[in-house]
This record gives sequence, C-alpha cells and structure tokens, in this order.
Amino acid sequence: RLDVVDLDMAYGNYQVLRKVNLSAPAGSITCIIGPSGSGKSTLLRCLNRLAEPLGGDIRLDGDSVMAMKPDRLRRRVGMVFQHFNLFPDHTALGNVMLSLRKVKNLSGGEARRVAETRLAEVGLAQRMDHRPMDLSGGQQQRVAIARALALEPELMLFDEVTSALDPELVKGVLKLMAGLGESGMTMVVVTHEMNFARRVADQVVFMDEGAVVESGPPEAIFGNPRSPRLKRFLSEVL
Ligand code: ATP
Ligand code: MG
Repeated sequence: RLDVVDLDMAYGNYQVLRKVNLSAPAGSITCIIGPSGSGKSTLLRCLNRLAEPLGGDIRLDGDSVMAMKPDRLRRRVGMVFQHFNLFPDHTALGNVMLSLRKVKNLSGGEARRVAETRLAEVGLAQRMDHRPMDLSGGQQQRVAIARALALEPELMLFDEVTSALDPELVKGVLKLMAGLGESGMTMVVVTHEMNFARRVADQVVFMDEGAVVESGPPEAIFGNPRSPRLKRFLSEVL
C-alpha cells in the first residue's frame, strides 16, 4: 500500500509539487493524468527518490520511503521510463541479469534462471540474446518491464511507457500492463492513454500545476468531472 502525504518538491525556487496527497491500496492501479509540466514525472521520481522532496512523507506499507536505504528502496519499488533506459551493450538477458546481480546479489546462474523466466513471461523467450538496438521499441519496453519485475517489487511505477512507441506497438505493452494489474501488482501509471486509464484504473488522479485537482474512480473522473480545469483538460485530450 502506498501513502503520499502533503508532498512538496521544488527545483530551486520553482515549486513543482504542492501538498500532494495520494493513497493506493495494495493491488490497485492508479493512473495519473494531467497537462504537460503539471508535475506527474516529478511525483513518480519522488516515489522512488530519484528526486528529493522538500517536505511531506511517502509510506510504503507504513514504512517511510524517506528513511529507507537506497538499495532497499530499489528492491521494493520498480520503475519503467518512456525511453527504456536499457544498457545498449548488453543483450536483453544481460540487462535483466545485471540488475538482479547488482540489486539482489544473485549468482550468475540464479540471475540467468530468473531473467529467462521473466523475459519469457513478457513474450521475449525468442529474443533474449538480442541487444536493444536489434529489438523493436515495444520489445525494448518489455525488457525494461521484465527487468523491473525481476526484482519482485511491491510497487511498480510507469512513466508514459508507451509514448515513444509506434502506434501498432502500444497495444501490446498496455495489455502486458493490464495483465500485471490483474495479477495483483500495485501500480502507479502516468499515462496519456485515456482509454487505458478508463478501462484499467481503480482510481484516476488529475494533476495540474503541481497539485492534485481531482481524483476518483474512472467513471467519476471521465463521466462526471467536477473542476473546470479537468473538464477543459478532458475536452482537449478526448
Ligand atoms: P509531461 O507530461 O510533459 O511529461 P510532467 O507532468 O511529467 O510533464 P514534470 O516533468 O514533472 O511534468 O515537470 C514539472 C515542472 O518541473 C515543469 O515545469 C518542468 O519544467 C519542471 N522541471 C522538471 N524537471 C526539472 C529540473 N530538473 N530542473 C528544473 N525544473 C524542472
Ligand atoms: Mg513527464
């Protein structure tokens, strides 16, 4: 379970997050939507401390993320980015193995076994020995997802993971994510895919100018938006 309490964050004098509050029960899917520059990525980056908040608290099953050792946090929270962030000189298998050895201290043999299983689960059994440049964007994103899942995190963060993909590859990655949600993973997903949010999310959070403006079940957010800002946003994106 994730609890974000009064989270503040600034870049220099520029306040990017303003008292953000958010709770996500275990096994839930939270989709974060909002205009460009509203602070969605910054919020996700705070959740695994790629960015340091100014104030407030983030709790994972009651444990403060702020007080957690970085390597512990890396194991408990997985993140997948828009631009895959794979190591170009390693194969798909190598990329997944590397993080297992580094973060979980697995032996080469153990890491290989787990990595092969995870890559097969995301449909890449036949592509494990390919390097990123020899994979499609969708396949690269699956490697990144397999790499994060291999560490068995409690919480998975996704930041616009389909935005850099060709349209025909988007569906497959979204399907993989929906399946992951069905398997009970707790997920926070920043997305421009409104149909995904509408179909798959347990709750949708609308951010604007660093604050949560409105949140609720997708039926309410999309079917009965209250704030003028959300209404305007939806009229622009739908
Ligand atoms: P998008 O939908 O375009 O990805 P976003 O909602 O993810 O936008 P953020 O990336 O969180 O927005 O950025 C929020 C604000 O913080 C923006 O105004 C951005 O310019 C600013 N910002 C982001 N990163 C930095 C940084 N490293 N230094 C200074 N300002 C930053
Ligand atoms: Mg962003």
